[in-house]
Formats: sequence, C-alpha cells, structure tokens
Amino acid sequence: MLHTLNAVIVGEAAAAVDPLTAEGIRPSIYSGVKAAAALDQALAGNPDALQGYTDVMYQEWGADMQWAQRIARIFYRMPGVGYRVGIKRPTATKRLGQLLAGDIHYADIANRVLKRFGGSLIPGRG
Ligand SMILES: Cc1cc2nc3c(=O)[nH]c(=O)nc-3n(C[C@H](O)[C@H](O)[C@H](O)COP(=O)(O)OP(=O)(O)OC[C@H]3O[C@@H](n4cnc5c(N)ncnc54)[C@H](O)[C@@H]3O)c2cc1C
Repeated sequence: MLHTLNAVIVGEAAAAVDPLTAEGIRPSIYSGVKAAAALDQALAGNPDALQGYTDVMYQEWGADMQWAQRIARIFYRMPGVGYRVGIKRPTATKRLGQLLAGDIHYADIANRVLKRFGGSLIPGRG
C-alpha cells in the first residue's frame, strides 16, 4: 500500500526502482506524476483518489517489476550466461531501449528471456 489517510509515498521510498537495471529516476518521476494526479483528485473531493494511486502503481508498475525481478534473479546469479543471453545478442540493446521507452514491458519478453536462460544451461545450446 502506497498511501494512508492523507499521504502518499513516492519514488525510491516507495521502492519504485527497476530491479534489473537499477534505474530509479524514471520510475520515481513516474510515481511522482501519478501521485500528483491522485492528490489533485483528492483535493477536489474524490475519497478514493489515494487508493487509486496505490492501485495504478501496482497495475502499471509493480506487476511488471515482478517480471523484472524474476529475470534479475537469474541474470545476477549467472552473470556469464546473462552476458551471453542478454547482453551480447544484437537485439538486446534494441529491446532494452524499447523497455526504457515504455514501448514494451518485461511481461512481454520474460518468457522468451527465461527460456533462453534455461536453454543455455543445456550443453551445446545457447
Ligand atoms: C550512486 C547512484 C547512482 C545511480 N544511478 C542511477 C542512474 O544512472 N539512473 C537511474 O535511473 N537511477 C540511478 N540511481 C537511482 C536514483 O538516483 C534514485 O532511484 C532516484 O534518485 C530516487 O529518486 P527519489 O526522488 O525517490 O529520491 P531522492 O533522489 O533520493 O530524493 C529524496 C530527497 O529527499 C531529501 N530528504 C530526505 N529526508 C528528508 C527530510 N527528512 N526532510 C527533507 N528532505 C529530505 C533528500 O535529501 C533528497 O534530496 C542511482 C543511485 C545511486 C545511489
């Protein structure tokens, strides 16, 4: 929960950090923008506005970060494999750019990425 009766918690204090890239500036600004919109609604008399902030942060940020967390857990545990599967591939830079731009989400690529990690553990593959 990122809100209480008359307050919201934003940015890094709200754990708005990408666990794979450690990027924190963009998510902090993102949560700040969402919090400002919710506070504006709350001041206008909407009693559910702050709950809406918690909800939107979970749906639009937190849910995807669970996928980032799953990838990060494997990536940082096996940096050699991570480099081969995630960094060295020519498409990796493009995908990361798309992720940072918000054009795609971790959920869109997680299954493929995790499968590649799995495949690379089998001798002769990856
Ligand atoms: C070494 C380092 C490198 C990083 N590199 C990157 C990067 O390349 N890209 C990226 O996206 N992220 C990076 N991050 C993470 C990013 O800096 C943070 O996630 C982001 O700045 C968090 O923003 P914020 O506004 O939530 O908090 P902050 O930027 O930490 O701002 C909080 C502010 O509140 C102030 N404050 C604290 N307590 C009080 C108080 N009691 N009263 C008044 N003011 C108070 C602090 O002084 C501070 O100015 C890096 C972090 C570190 C430490």
